[in-house]
Amino acid sequence: MILEQARSKQKEIVELRRLLHQYPEVAHREFKTHRILLEHLERLGIEIRAPVAGTGIVADIRGKGRGKTVALRADIDALPIKEENDVPYRSLNDGFMHACGHDAHMSMVYGAALVLNDMRDKLDGNVRLIFQPAEEEGTLGGAKPMIEEGALEGVDYILGMHVWPELPEGTVGYRSGPFFAAADTFHLDIIGKGGHGAKPDMTVDPIVVSSKVIDALQLISSREIDPLEPVVVTVGSIHGGTAHNIIPDRVEMKGTVRTMNPKTRDTMEARMRRIIGGITSAFNASYSLNYIYGYPVLVNDRNVTEIMRSNLENLVGKERVVEARQTMGGEDFAYYLQKVPGTFLLLGVYNEKLGYVNSVHTSRFNLNEDILPLGSAIFVSGVMELLKH
Ligand SMILES: [Zn+2]
Ligand SMILES: [Zn+2]
Repeated sequence: MILEQARSKQKEIVELRRLLHQYPEVAHREFKTHRILLEHLERLGIEIRAPVAGTGIVADIRGKGRGKTVALRADIDALPIKEENDVPYRSLNDGFMHACGHDAHMSMVYGAALVLNDMRDKLDGNVRLIFQPAEEEGTLGGAKPMIEEGALEGVDYILGMHVWPELPEGTVGYRSGPFFAAADTFHLDIIGKGGHGAKPDMTVDPIVVSSKVIDALQLISSREIDPLEPVVVTVGSIHGGTAHNIIPDRVEMKGTVRTMNPKTRDTMEARMRRIIGGITSAFNASYSLNYIYGYPVLVNDRNVTEIMRSNLENLVGKERVVEARQTMGGEDFAYYLQKVPGTFLLLGVYNEKLGYVNSVHTSRFNLNEDILPLGSAIFVSGVMELLKH
């Protein structure tokens, strides 16, 4: 029934998705996206608050009863990737692409809004739509400023969903408790003393010291943390030197630290400083470390997740509802879940037959649009169910 109602909106959902897909915009610069969303939401005759947190939008569908409020969140930003899909709706912003499926997220929430707005007279409670900028930004993100500007005021539960090529199309992944990792970044400079490449004794070589540091940082996860607990330290960028025969003054590195346990997360900066400080002082070098705290661990509420699991089993069938694996990816939906109970779901989009096999953040990521009404239906049925609790 709900699935049929959502499918009856497929044309509008797909049209919006294609329009958004053509105009991908990166974090905090989602101006056209903002306008497109506004135009579509204004047609629904619902209460709209915009702009929120720069390019965000908050809208309310008010039901008849004085029940609870369930929020649905979509992220709206794209990525600096050149699209390689040969589709009629390919990106018109050269060098940018909705390669994380946030165009799908927006249109699925929009589809849910269409269905829920049709039945607003029967809703015992309200629906809050949250269109949030800058999920991909990584450090500050868009969720936190949206919350600071009141996006969660009066909200009792929240639902979010990500399209997920690691799950077969039409499968829904759920997980109670910690799900996405805390994602912190760091900038590390190893400072030595430059000189001639043939006279290392007159220098402090920051390249050699860096090699020891990088190596030793990997020992945090292998020697210092419980082996059953996931921790990642990645140095993703390293720059130093200009020529084969010159020892430079400094080496600059950037990296990311991922943890699944908030207590462990709190220890990581100190562990790194101890190791980096020890190694640099051993070799007469010094360092500067800028450790930047990003998104916290995303922790799904057990109660809401359980409600959604059984709800999903009724909607799509038991065999298509699976417990998802934890991922070391970060997701700023985590901030909402620190404030109100809710759950973040994964919607499988992998379809080998149709060639939808590429992962998110790649130039060929795409999905079968027939799946979008299912995403809308999941939101609608989630709202209906949670309003009863
Ligand atoms: Zn992404
Ligand atoms: Zn994403």
